[in-house]
Amino acid sequence: MARIKKGDIVTVLSGKEKGKTGKVLRVFPDRQLALVEHLNVLKHFERPSQQSQTGGIVPREGPLPLSRLTLACPRCRKPVRMGWQVTQTSDKYRVCARCEERL
Ligand SMILES: [Zn+2]
Repeated sequence: MARIKKGDIVTVLSGKEKGKTGKVLRVFPDRQLALVEHLNVLKHFERPSQQSQTGGIVPREGPLPLSRLTLACPRCRKPVRMGWQVTQTSDKYRVCARCEERL
């Protein structure tokens, strides 16, 4: 299973957001959860505070279980099989097995 980290593009495998793709905003490894941009957005009601002068309904991403996410290619926007490529300085990096876009 691919390790998902902040900044990765992921696709949701199941649940109400199935098939949607977004960018990982934050990972909680100890809880096996991740926040994904624009996915699983919950409406929070916030009272006016010093941070938000107006308060009101604030949309905010809810965490999704990592087990329901899979790494996607930023170019294909689809779940990908990962490959590895090695540079001349022997740095390894992940690539999309389909289009070879660096992940
Ligand atoms: Zn690709």
